[in-house]
Amino acid sequence: MIRLKKLMVKRNICWILTLAMVMSLVVIPSNNVYATNVTADQAIAWVQSQVGKALDVDGAYGAQCVDLIMAYYDYLGVPRASGNAVDYTTNALPSGWQRIKGAQPQKGDILVYTGGYGHVAIYEADRITYHQNIDKVQSVQKVSYKYDGLHTPYWGVIRPNWSSATSPTNPSILTNQLWYDIADTIQIKAHADGATSYFMSIFKDGNKIISQGVTDGFFSMSASKYGYGKYSAYFSCSNSAGTVDTQWVNFSVVGAPSYTDVYASNWWYDLSDTVSISVDTVCAKGQLIGIDKEGVGRVVTESSDPTFKMDASKLGVGKYSAYFSVYNGSGGVDTTRVSFEIVDKPKEGAVVSTMKEKYTLNDEVELSVLVYCSKSQLVRIDKEGVGRVVTDSANNGVYKIAASNLGKGKYSAYFYVSNNSGGYETSHITFEIGCSHKYISNIIKEPTCDGTGVKKYICTECDESYTETIDALGHKYVDTVIKPTESESGYTLHKCKECGYSYKDSYTDALQKSTEPDIKHIINNTNKDISNTAINNTYVNATAIKSVNSGKKSIKIKWKKVSGVSGYQLQYATNKSFKKGKKITIKSNSTTVRTIRKLKNKKKYYVRIRTYKVSNNKTIYSKWSATRNKKTK
Ligand SMILES: [Zn+2]
Ligand SMILES: [Zn+2]
Repeated sequence: MIRLKKLMVKRNICWILTLAMVMSLVVIPSNNVYATNVTADQAIAWVQSQVGKALDVDGAYGAQCVDLIMAYYDYLGVPRASGNAVDYTTNALPSGWQRIKGAQPQKGDILVYTGGYGHVAIYEADRITYHQNIDKVQSVQKVSYKYDGLHTPYWGVIRPNWSSATSPTNPSILTNQLWYDIADTIQIKAHADGATSYFMSIFKDGNKIISQGVTDGFFSMSASKYGYGKYSAYFSCSNSAGTVDTQWVNFSVVGAPSYTDVYASNWWYDLSDTVSISVDTVCAKGQLIGIDKEGVGRVVTESSDPTFKMDASKLGVGKYSAYFSVYNGSGGVDTTRVSFEIVDKPKEGAVVSTMKEKYTLNDEVELSVLVYCSKSQLVRIDKEGVGRVVTDSANNGVYKIAASNLGKGKYSAYFYVSNNSGGYETSHITFEIGCSHKYISNIIKEPTCDGTGVKKYICTECDESYTETIDALGHKYVDTVIKPTESESGYTLHKCKECGYSYKDSYTDALQKSTEPDIKHIINNTNKDISNTAINNTYVNATAIKSVNSGKKSIKIKWKKVSGVSGYQLQYATNKSFKKGKKITIKSNSTTVRTIRKLKNKKKYYVRIRTYKVSNNKTIYSKWSATRNKKTK
């Protein structure tokens, strides 16, 4: 604002005007259309070139604001206008130009201000305008006041009709080949609509190698100039209004060609076939084919397309191998060889087979023939007692037909295998189609407790039969426990209720006589047998083990209580004879159970027990009980 106030005070707007200009009449032809041949950008570039210069084009009153505009008209090639600056709101316009009151100015417009004699200037942007004779400076200046922020009122613009020239459009670029061998010529053609000049940049393996102007957008050079590698290029297409770049284009300069595959269309041909051998090349310009025949040598050498075709009949029956030499201007390479054979008829030794030798009516009969170099296989089937029933074609050596179509019976079949060179009959195979069998069954031998039975299946539609074994039934036991007596052991009796078979197990000891001493086992406390020296008439009753149960590393023994004794002595060992057996004395006759612990696990222990009585400082033992055993857990 301070700056603006200063401007208001100091500015001297076109106060000196020439009377001569006011009074002179300039006649402007009204029927000429003054299309400028420059663009607004070019016009602004000219204005910028005038900054600092004092323009006094009419030679009167020094460099006034209207002098800049007159010089602008001169530059744009139109007749000058006359009058003071304020007259530019109404004076004659070059035909085709526009005068717009209150317009938002555009680049290159002439700004017109009113107030007194008025003011004129040239607009580039809102805060870039060009004036002469502003702030008392009588030369062209670029100022940054907003175009409509001057003290004097903004009126509008005069807008020249600029050249419609635009930058080039639709840029394109192409090369004459995608790849080049070293003998090729690289040609690159670029084009853009409206372009008047072209500039090219070529890179090789990422480095810029050429950067130059190119006449008519066409460039040509030998591939050998910069050698093998990957290239890329683009062109800049220009005219006076601007420049547009093309896309990048890529190409290569390659060495000798290579190939990815070489193959024959078949490994054999008959004499009616066309032999076809192909190569898939990479960067080849052409290829030769060489064909050698076994036992003969080279039979074909000629220039070829990537696929070589020749009638097999021209080559004749025999074994062959072929290869290509592929080449370009940089070099050449030979492919591996492919082998093929030309045959006169299918190879002998066809293998003929049937899926089954015996089919039922529900089956599908499948016959096949394995043969080399055959194009057609006719199948012929004869039925015993009937004759030929089928003449048909197999599909790739396989023939299928529903057995029900043929019916029950015996058959013989063979193939006629052929190609266009000839054919022959294979050997014959036989097969049979029989009943599909509906069986009923009968038991012809009943099973017993310990004997198997037999079931027979018989087909209701034919004589076919077979038998099946029935498992034995097994005994049905009734168990009876027989208790022991004083003289006899007890046991459990198992008897089959069906057949009477029986067996016994789980024996228990006979009961002990309790009154009769066994004199042989009366011994004194020195363990010396005193049976024969007798003996105070003292003897003791024996006891018996009632049960032995096992625990983990333990066994639990229960025995019969005996009154009138001092206690019991238990003995246990891992052997029947009690060798190294251990003894445990129980000093109470009322104790009748004892668990022996810390034994070995899963080990069989033998136990027995006897009573003892202390009498007159002598210990008298009864005889041992029956031995029992038990395995620890
Ligand atoms: Zn049957
Ligand atoms: Zn039984």
